[in-house]
Amino acid sequence: MTAQNGEASLTASDITDSSALVHGLTAEEIRTLTAKCIEAKAAAYCPYSLFRVGSALLTHSGSYISGANVENASYPVGSCAERVAMGSAVFAGHRRGDFRAIAVATDAPEPSSPCGMCRQFLREFCGGTSRL
Ligand SMILES: [Zn+2]
Repeated sequence: MTAQNGEASLTASDITDSSALVHGLTAEEIRTLTAKCIEAKAAAYCPYSLFRVGSALLTHSGSYISGANVENASYPVGSCAERVAMGSAVFAGHRRGDFRAIAVATDAPEPSSPCGMCRQFLREFCGGTSRL
């Protein structure tokens, strides 16, 4: 990890094959997941919190599906990036057990944990073996 302009980010050299194996993924899969969830932040609609979140899923078939948070003036009506990505995946035909990993990126310097609603939502489709 490195910090640039107050923002933590992974660099390619931070991800090695041995560190990736801890997550059950290859270094290339982690690099791609990282790039895709960081890229997804650009699509966030967050005029209320100004807290951009991007997410990327990796399926067993090798597909990557991204999402970003979509807020609403009525706070609970908005959707987190994790649920947007999973909803897109389900809409594309993926089902429970199809997912190997999910990655989440924010602009915060420290990692952010998915909220309780997202944990429940992801549990429905990922079971207990997908990596976060
Ligand atoms: Zn959430």
